[in-house]
Amino acid sequence: MGWLKIGYDGIDAEKERIARLSGPNRFWMKEGTKREIVLIDDEPACVYEHSPKINGSWNNAFTCLKESSDIIPCCEKLGERDRYYCGHYTIVDITEPTDAKNAKYQHEIKLLPTKLKTLSLLRRKKGDRGSLIGCIFNVHRDSKDDPNCGSEFEFQREAKLEGLFPLVTFKGKKLVDLYKEAAEKPEVMARLKDTFQLTLDAEGKIVPKIYSFNYEKILAQKTPQEIRSMLGSAQVESDGGQEGSKSPKDDNVPF
Ligand SMILES: [Zn+2]
Repeated sequence: MGWLKIGYDGIDAEKERIARLSGPNRFWMKEGTKREIVLIDDEPACVYEHSPKINGSWNNAFTCLKESSDIIPCCEKLGERDRYYCGHYTIVDITEPTDAKNAKYQHEIKLLPTKLKTLSLLRRKKGDRGSLIGCIFNVHRDSKDDPNCGSEFEFQREAKLEGLFPLVTFKGKKLVDLYKEAAEKPEVMARLKDTFQLTLDAEGKIVPKIYSFNYEKILAQKTPQEIRSMLGSAQVESDGGQEGSKSPKDDNVPF
């Protein structure tokens, strides 16, 4: 009986389901602020996205179905011009925390979504340097019209990624601890495999380092049904694919 479970066996499965519900935190910055990030990769994973405001929240980016399906509820509902080309990178946000709440999320590994303007900028930086992996950048966003992932990337220095690794957190949990947990619990291992492009050693343990996100999984398209139910009843507003504009006010990460 799928809908009824007697006993406690369902608890761990439910905890896993909740942990998987929302993907990685997406890097986003307020206008007039400066942040410091380290790039973990430098070949962006590019898709067409929609990012509608649903019930007051901007935290709903998802991959457009147009490239792979004849049924395209996203473009039907939001308009084809709503979708935008977006390149994703894996970064670690190393901005100095301003209070204790932020401190929990310092060194958080995040997805950096970039639209055309920032993508072109990073392509040029990569051309200049050869590689951006491990590079520390100061990122600025001056005005509201600037891309919300930052308009200026100022190279600082190269980070020592082995030194950074023990500090890195994923949704507030240290990667080192998550890797340890994965060695004991197959469901945690399965989730981490779906989240990161892991390398395992001969004993099947995760080689301790910082990995890029598993883009194929985390950017995977939802089904037309899922998109329909997401966009169906709710109050939905399109952002028109603008570079700046949106602000995920209810972002669960407080910076
Ligand atoms: Zn679409």
